[in-house]
Amino acid sequence: MHEQGAPSVLRIEDMPVPVIKANEVLIKVGAVGVSYHDVVERNGAYQRGVHFPMVLGNEVAGTVEKVGDLVTTLKAGDRVCCKPFQVCGMCRRCRNGMETACKKRRGVRGGYAEYVAITEEALVKIPDSLTFEEACMLGASTGVALNAVRDVAKVQIGERVLVTGASGGCGIPSVEIARASGATVIAVTRSEAKRQELLDIGAHHVIVAPDGKDFSGDVNALTQDEGVDVVIDNVGSRVFTPSFKSLAVGGRYAFVGQLFREEISINPARIFFKRARFIGVGSCRRDQLEDAVALVASGKVKPRVAKVLPLEQAAEAHAMVEGGDVVGRVVLKP
Ligand SMILES: [Zn+2]
Repeated sequence: MHEQGAPSVLRIEDMPVPVIKANEVLIKVGAVGVSYHDVVERNGAYQRGVHFPMVLGNEVAGTVEKVGDLVTTLKAGDRVCCKPFQVCGMCRRCRNGMETACKKRRGVRGGYAEYVAITEEALVKIPDSLTFEEACMLGASTGVALNAVRDVAKVQIGERVLVTGASGGCGIPSVEIARASGATVIAVTRSEAKRQELLDIGAHHVIVAPDGKDFSGDVNALTQDEGVDVVIDNVGSRVFTPSFKSLAVGGRYAFVGQLFREEISINPARIFFKRARFIGVGSCRRDQLEDAVALVASGKVKPRVAKVLPLEQAAEAHAMVEGGDVVGRVVLKP
């Protein structure tokens, strides 16, 4: 990319193979996911750290080609996937379980290519049973869902869990992981067409509600007027009010995504009357990505690959993802 704009700004060009630093690994890219983050970096909605020429791509899976002098855990030939960001590994936050908020955090980029350099810290080995197409998306979808459901919201057997944006990249694994945790899962989606798919992956109930519709009555009807113990909110402002109304007394509200720019407004009394807990999720740690890889390898969670396209069709892939009509990840193969 030499500028931001329509999908046509994505062009194939020859570039030198990246030169790795001592703590980096050169990856021969097997597959790269097209995330919504890539879309906003391309169309201009996202500006942070944008310099040209820029190679997009933070959902990388591939084979280790070469390792830097300080790399100890990986060697040429290993198959790996990555977190979508790299951290220092040394600061207070990195060392107390808050690596996702490292002050030196920087996004992975450069995956839309034959080779990319990524720090060792951001990479996790994958077994031969996982394809690159499945593995590339784990850091941004399954890993985040695992963080949200297991570690932040701490979903327990028998609890009722509401998942918003349930047919999206974090929504689908959130439904699967909540179900595998022994919870009763209520999935909310905007599209009637996605109802059956959500039931197939394990949702006990599906509520189809366009943005802005108050679906809390449906949730109450499904929960004997108790509400849900946990909300896993992948949408944000546009579903906040009905989702909060759906929360049981003493419930946990986990914020995973905010797809729109609006703010939310709430009378604080409603929070303490409900004894509600609001918790921010925020990406996934390396150990959580390792666990996500193990979960997928065990067959309990299945990454959804919507379509595989050659790198030359990156613009087409972006148009599909921006249009929002796909269930699962669109994946590019260089
Ligand atoms: Zn750090």
